[in-house]
Amino acid sequence: MITSLLIANRGEIACRIIRTARAMNMRTIAVYSDADARALHVREADEAVHIGPSPARESYLVGARIIAAARDSGAEAIHPGYGFLSENADFAQSVIDAGLVWVGPNPDSIRAMGLKDAAKERMIAAGVPVTPGYLGADQDPDRLQREADAIGYPVLIKAVAGGGGKGMRRVDEAGEFAGALVSCQREAASSFGNTQVLIEKYILSPRHIEVQVFGDRHGNVVHLFERDCSLQRRHQKVIEEAPAPRMDETTRASICAAAVKAANAVDYVGAGTIEFIADASEGLRADRIWFMEMNTRLQVEHPVTEAITGQDLVEWQLRVASGEPLPKRQEELSIDGHAIEARLYAEDPAKGFLPSIGRLERFDLGNASGLDNIRVDTGVEQGAEISPFYDPMIAKVIAWGETREAARETLADALDEAVMWPVRFNAGFLVQALDHPAFVAGDLDTGLIAREGDALMPPAEPSDGALADAAAALSDASAFAGFRLNAPPRREAMFLLNGAPIEIGFAEAGGEATTDEASLLVSEGGQTWELGRWRATGVAAGGAADGAADGAILSPMPGRIIAVEVTEGDAVTKGQKLLTLEAMKMEHSLVAPFDGTVAHLAASEGVQVSEGAVLARIDRTGEHT
Ligand code: ADP
Ligand code: ADP
Ligand code: MG
Repeated sequence: MITSLLIANRGEIACRIIRTARAMNMRTIAVYSDADARALHVREADEAVHIGPSPARESYLVGARIIAAARDSGAEAIHPGYGFLSENADFAQSVIDAGLVWVGPNPDSIRAMGLKDAAKERMIAAGVPVTPGYLGADQDPDRLQREADAIGYPVLIKAVAGGGGKGMRRVDEAGEFAGALVSCQREAASSFGNTQVLIEKYILSPRHIEVQVFGDRHGNVVHLFERDCSLQRRHQKVIEEAPAPRMDETTRASICAAAVKAANAVDYVGAGTIEFIADASEGLRADRIWFMEMNTRLQVEHPVTEAITGQDLVEWQLRVASGEPLPKRQEELSIDGHAIEARLYAEDPAKGFLPSIGRLERFDLGNASGLDNIRVDTGVEQGAEISPFYDPMIAKVIAWGETREAARETLADALDEAVMWPVRFNAGFLVQALDHPAFVAGDLDTGLIAREGDALMPPAEPSDGALADAAAALSDASAFAGFRLNAPPRREAMFLLNGAPIEIGFAEAGGEATTDEASLLVSEGGQTWELGRWRATGVAAGGAADGAADGAILSPMPGRIIAVEVTEGDAVTKGQKLLTLEAMKMEHSLVAPFDGTVAHLAASEGVQVSEGAVLARIDRTGEHT
């Protein structure tokens, strides 16, 4: 058995791997960048090695530094986690060449599944049903257009090297194809350094169903059943569950067998996931489920599989990497109950899911982790700093129940209690999604979030009851700046909710001690607000300055400009897209705050900008000279 393990990752997955490695008596070695010097994964490991500056390109993605860290710390094996170098075959090979144990599949298996077109060719040869489409080497735009026409719209253009939901364009009619191709290739070039694309039939009523597979070095391959990851935003998973709702035994047997066949076709060793796309317009049917891609690593959503099978997949990985056979045979594995996972992102749903950064003055999933049947996998804790350098996913909350409904209610209850401030997070949005009638009914498809967008937005303000309680706690007679409308004990007074004036009616505190604080946090439904005492001065009308009042378009966070849609002098209408900023691996549109003219444009494509930088200025129609 491996006795010392370096974890070439950060955040929740590094903490997750350390937990199992420690339980298996391994010495654990973390690596960290400048930004992560005080991160949770660094403190949880037995040792930690600094590997470079904050940008991932200069630290977590530099294979040579990680191998050097393993050598210097005497680590015997490297676990790559997910993301970063986990699916980099060259890195896997250099780990092996350095005489270290690679906790993952053979580099050849990674390579075989690395490009989506080659992987599909391989699966066709192995007799696995694949999404219909064009995989040819001929990338002439006219040829691609003809192939798309022949497949029939809608189609999906996919970068063969794509991942993380990037490098994909849905095309609904022939006339849109050429433009979509150019933009897909542009994104593919900048994100993956490879412009090659494939074309797939766009599956309608799509459900994302994937199967967990595991292989060992003794020729065994098993599956650990399916997961449903259909709840997605921009092709990125948000809520995942196992087993898939409304899956029948025959269909399950068929896709799990296809997944094992796929893994065998590439001599798969370790943890892997076969992703399928299902046309669920008439329920899940084996003849309407097709191979999409294979992820040759541990998946973010592996805990739901662990919850229903009672297995520890990281332990399986470490045993397999040590040369042991799989801990269980296929017939020893079964499904017990139902599990649902929600991904907590540091982002603001109300601001178009803009990633949110800063210090976590309050971060409390504590109530959640105390609940029965709840598991919290987190990479941060109160006091931590969310930096702009990495993925905004900070934690996962996983609920298990005997039934899907029990798991769903438990998860919603746990998220309901989550508190985070002043950094924003998506717990309120997750609560809405879990409570949406279609989700409750298990009637899922990948378009649900996009379609229901506004219906899933959590309330902008706390309930009257929560506000009244907070107002009562904050008010103290001497500093009280309000006025009496009704007879006591009811008062109405001005407060500041997230910096914006608000009038609240509440019952007087009735002699109870009130807080001395100038503000307090109100949390409800997975959302957190700050209620402050009213200050007559220093508050801009409408609350916190958002830069829109004077038409200045400020960069909301550090990032890179990836598209500029306007030029100086252009007339723009309120809400029109001006620029696209890429930050924390996500794209954000900056839009015109009102009708007007682009008076000044300071941004150009490819440029790195800092938070608060003035990118453009819009003059209100009629105001410019
Ligand atoms: P999954 O299907 O498991 O969500 P993804 O391909 O979307 O897999 O990526 C897994 C996770 O790793 C996601 O949170 C993603 O944002 C993150 N990730 C992917 N690639 C990178 C990378 N190069 N660096 C850091 N994080 C990454
Ligand atoms: P990535 O490498 O970015 O994970 P995938 O090929 O796994 O790319 O696709 C990501 C998501 O895009 C899927 O989970 C699904 O929601 C959607 N998708 C992919 N292919 C199709 C398709 N042919 N039809 C409909 N939706 C698709
Ligand atoms: Mg995928």
